[in-house]
Amino acid sequence: TTVFGSAVTTLVTMVLLVVVSFSMAALSNEQQTRALRMVASRDDLTGLLNRKAFLNLAAEQLADLSIAKGTGALVLADLDHFKAVNDTYGHAAGDVALQTFADACAATVRSTDLVGRYGGEEFVILIPGASAERAEIIAKSISRRLAAAATVDGMDMPTVSYGISTYDGATTDVERLIASADAALYRAKSLGRNRTARSDRML
Ligand code: GH3
Ligand code: MG
Ligand code: MG
Repeated sequence: TTVFGSAVTTLVTMVLLVVVSFSMAALSNEQQTRALRMVASRDDLTGLLNRKAFLNLAAEQLADLSIAKGTGALVLADLDHFKAVNDTYGHAAGDVALQTFADACAATVRSTDLVGRYGGEEFVILIPGASAERAEIIAKSISRRLAAAATVDGMDMPTVSYGISTYDGATTDVERLIASADAALYRAKSLGRNRTARSDRML
């Protein structure tokens, strides 16, 4: 009998130790990478996807025809007279309004829909499988939630205008969908704001 085992046992043990410690290091690296990627894809103020992450994920979804047979709607939202909110109540209150709107979006859509902050006071939502009618209902529901949110320091929450574009299996171009929704949004603004407008053709 030997106390420390054979040379083979020792070797196997050492190899195992090395493998285990390497894979533990690799695991925590992967966790770190995931955490970093998570931070890099989120907008600081609202926690929504940032523009770049939204565009990447939306492109992936549009390319995958197994998701809702490649159909759905894209909604572009722009807070109304937001400059006046900042001017009247201050920039910090404006930030709260942006966060409240983001929360209203997240509470309204499904977890599989994509919600992003496109920039400033503009937001973008991709809703696979939704018709224009369905997207309109969702937009109105977001606005209702925003209006019902508790106001801070007597601030009235701003209203919101929405532009909606729809797509079927043929489209994989997010930028085109956004441009089409943007044209509809422009119409919603010029028709008096606080409303939805649809793009006239499906992409
Ligand atoms: P409209 O109804 O036509 O959209 O008018 P608007 O005032 O909302 O549009 P405009 O583009 O003139 O102003 C947008 C404002 O949004 C100006 C900018 O200071 C403000 N804004 C952009 N990003 C932020 C932010 O992160 N926080 C705050 N508080 N304000 C922001
Ligand atoms: Mg704007
Ligand atoms: Mg605006």
